[in-house]
Amino acid sequence: MSRAGLGTPSGESFQSRRIVMQKLALVGLGASGLFALKELAGAPVEVHVFDVGPQYSKRYACPIDQGKLTVCPPKACSYCAPGQSAGSWNDFKVILSASPVIGGRLYELIGEQELQKRLDTVRQTILTHAPVEIPVVKPNKDDLDWINKRATLAGMTYHYQELLHCGSDNAPAINTSILNEIIEKGPNIVFHWDSKVQSVARRGERFAVRHDGYRKPTSNEQEDIFDYCILSVGRGGAHWLTQQEFYKALDIYPGQVDIGVRVETSCYFTEEVDKRFYEPKLYYISRHTGDVVRNFCSNPRGYVTPENHRDYVLVNGHSKMFEKSENNNFAVLVSKTFTRPFKDPQLYSQTIAKVVNMLAGGGPLVQRLGDLRAGRRTKSLANNMIKPTLEAECGDISLAYPHRILTSIMEYLDALDKICPGVAHDSTLLFAPECKSYPDSIAVNKSMETNIENLFIIGDSSSWTRGVGQATTSGLLAGEGVKKKLKELAPTPATVAQAVS
Ligand SMILES: Cc1cc2nc3c(=O)[nH]c(=O)nc-3n(C[C@H](O)[C@H](O)[C@H](O)COP(=O)(O)OP(=O)(O)OC[C@H]3O[C@@H](n4cnc5c(N)ncnc54)[C@H](O)[C@@H]3O)c2cc1C
Repeated sequence: MSRAGLGTPSGESFQSRRIVMQKLALVGLGASGLFALKELAGAPVEVHVFDVGPQYSKRYACPIDQGKLTVCPPKACSYCAPGQSAGSWNDFKVILSASPVIGGRLYELIGEQELQKRLDTVRQTILTHAPVEIPVVKPNKDDLDWINKRATLAGMTYHYQELLHCGSDNAPAINTSILNEIIEKGPNIVFHWDSKVQSVARRGERFAVRHDGYRKPTSNEQEDIFDYCILSVGRGGAHWLTQQEFYKALDIYPGQVDIGVRVETSCYFTEEVDKRFYEPKLYYISRHTGDVVRNFCSNPRGYVTPENHRDYVLVNGHSKMFEKSENNNFAVLVSKTFTRPFKDPQLYSQTIAKVVNMLAGGGPLVQRLGDLRAGRRTKSLANNMIKPTLEAECGDISLAYPHRILTSIMEYLDALDKICPGVAHDSTLLFAPECKSYPDSIAVNKSMETNIENLFIIGDSSSWTRGVGQATTSGLLAGEGVKKKLKELAPTPATVAQAVS
């Protein structure tokens, strides 16, 4: 445990304020947790931060990315699985526009203006801490006319977004610098790195948090009691959340899954849209299935990467600010929600992922689009025009994916080909499994507080967010919410006198 110092900003000793200082547990210091902590630095509350990952300054880059390994180790190295807060360390693309459809559902919760205000704070914070100048991608009128016309002719809908792409190479410096500023401002913060929170349970109106070492469990599990709890465990911690004592008392409704592929193609097919938008959000409704299909996480001149979840391996993509490939990769995802009686969408997507892994001998599969169309397995990529940036087993994705998903994906790529001629070329590569499962949606108020008083659930584990921009925003909302409560509780001179006597 490291203590950043427990004085108050005014220099008054911590002990002398103990009579009024309440305690808060912040579980998970990824994108959302970091911005909640930013709000709480210096607030009159003792904040204990738990994260399974090591101190930010000790986090290393992905060994595959560094050329030290060619395939994911059998045990997740925690670069993209829980432990290293994927998106704000890997690629670090941030959607800066308040949109009703992109990046999460906070628009629905707090409205456009309030969302935009927080996203502007996120933008400012990241830019202030960036070690190099990072351009904000902001389409102009000419770009918008260009894409709207082409999208309409292709049967697609374009959704506006401004974007910041920090790159995997800048991510460690940005996160570490933000955290250092928090530490300076926050003598009220205690860090528990490499600590897994085993459980959170209600104890009357308070919360009992049991925690232990992560990499080296100490068999010295400890329990501490807190007045407030902010859970920011990400998608990786979503299952853990469902196992907690309080979970059944939350107001919840089933989440959604996105099942799709990571498309890798030539950067020359997409360079016009890349230049104008970096990542244009293009939505399409399948003619055959009525499913909504969308692109996600474009990485112009980037790299396809494995995303190791310990018992299954997905694919993802990222790009860097300085080192470039000749390819572009992006996800094409089909969204599904389920109705009664089925209510475990995460299990559904994980099962599909595991079948793909089984066929591939343990990792991802890759197939040429031409082979998928022709209904045959890809046997080799030796003569393929597009050279993959990730080594994966050649195979047949249709042996694992439902037909309606693949039909929708192929329709999407044909439509996109009208905007980016060449994208639907036979040699375009499809990597699977690219699945995103979202936790159950948890009812929260505008401060991300659940129906259990003083329990806040933020970021992707709440299912209100789907990316760094809105995850960080939800952190700001919770931090502000806690501060508001603390203010309401602030002692009057009379209550202090009573406590001292
Ligand atoms: C490979 C990859 C790349 C991505 N790239 C992007 C991108 O470029 N742009 C984008 O907008 N989105 C991206 N995303 C999505 C993005 O990562 C998430 O939307 C975002 O990180 C959600 O923030 P969060 O705070 O909810 O969770 P996270 O950032 O995942 O943080 C959760 C934290 O909780 C900790 N934790 C979990 N369980 C426990 C426990 N029991 N005890 C203690 N600590 C725990 C973890 O160590 C982690 O630090 C990417 C996702 C992946 C997997």
